[in-house]
Amino acid sequence: MARVYDNRKRILVTGGAGFIGSHLIDRLLEQGHEVLCVDNLFTGTKRNIDHLHNHPRFEFMRHDVTFPLYIEVDEIYNLACPASPVHYQHDPVQTTKTSVHGAINMLGLAKRLRAKIFQASTSEVYGDPSVHPQPEDYWGHVNPIGPRSCYDEGKRCAETLFFDYHRQHGLEIKVARIFNTYGPRMHHADGRVVSNFIVQALRGEPITIYGDGSQTRSFCYVDDLVDGFIRLMESATSVTGPVNLGNPGEFTMLELAEKVIQSTGSSSKIVFQALPQDDPKQRRPDISLAKKTLDWEPTVALDQGLGWTVDYFTKLLSDMAHG
Ligand code: NAD
Ligand code: UDP
Repeated sequence: MARVYDNRKRILVTGGAGFIGSHLIDRLLEQGHEVLCVDNLFTGTKRNIDHLHNHPRFEFMRHDVTFPLYIEVDEIYNLACPASPVHYQHDPVQTTKTSVHGAINMLGLAKRLRAKIFQASTSEVYGDPSVHPQPEDYWGHVNPIGPRSCYDEGKRCAETLFFDYHRQHGLEIKVARIFNTYGPRMHHADGRVVSNFIVQALRGEPITIYGDGSQTRSFCYVDDLVDGFIRLMESATSVTGPVNLGNPGEFTMLELAEKVIQSTGSSSKIVFQALPQDDPKQRRPDISLAKKTLDWEPTVALDQGLGWTVDYFTKLLSDMAHG
């Protein structure tokens, strides 16, 4: 259910043309706020915000967050960063810069404006975890020099910056550790498992499982996640996070492939390919803290959310086929 702020605010969403950011913007506009979307369109697309083109309270600015930004807003959601391994490994130096320089620039902006600022952190801060499920006080098991490090260490450093600005400058911060999220507006070619499997199934192509498919992930539907974002942003000043946001249902990639085949009615066969280096073997959020402090937990079951996501990709692939 959408929750309503007391007053209209002017809100900056960085990475707002991306998958999660565009859903967050829809929700903030629904609540009556003004939204400024800042994005360099590296992995995001104007298609995700096309429907807002003539919205009187929406503005788009093409800008790279690794450069300073001088604007006036009341609140900031910092989501800018490529999120899929294929995308963030494409230009790893830029990925670290986006997380670290981007955080410094957005925190500097928040400091000047005395604005509350939200950080989209990630379950990747736990690396390939040796504690299961992962609570927020687990410090993680991260390779600092591997192919995923640009993202994992960049996001870890961003968290450090958020907490140092909080301690040193008294900034009001809200840090969410997001676990695998899926839904409409995921990029069809970003290589993430849900989009890959659905697109492969709809095209009748083989479904590519990396490794033996026994690794696990927990998948949260995007509407549930956005609800968690807003509850965290609205929470008492003393609630800084980090707080895990994700769906605790845990599935192997083999189970996910079977669900996608069932949901699409596809005749695709499963094929096995090499497991990428440092691929986490298991992942599931401990969401006790979010339940307690935000009264939040996901409501959308994987089968239901997959169905809606399949509907989205069915239409997208048909639109793409017809130009
Ligand atoms: P996405 O790739 O769809 O969106 C990221 C957006 O950031 C894109 O629109 C991209 O163009 C923009 N961007 C990238 N670099 C930028 C830069 N230097 N300047 C300005 N804009 C830039 O990914 P998403 O899934 O929507 O993820 C959003 C945020 O949530 C990211 O910070 C990501 O790390 C975090 N997150 C996502 C997941 C998930 O499962 N989707 C999980 C954990 C964390
Ligand atoms: N994966 C897979 N086939 C694919 C894409 C991904 O088996 O076509 C696996 C991948 O190796 C990982 C899991 O699915 O174990 C989730 O991958 P994703 O890239 O979506 O997210 P992350 O690894 O960052 O959680």
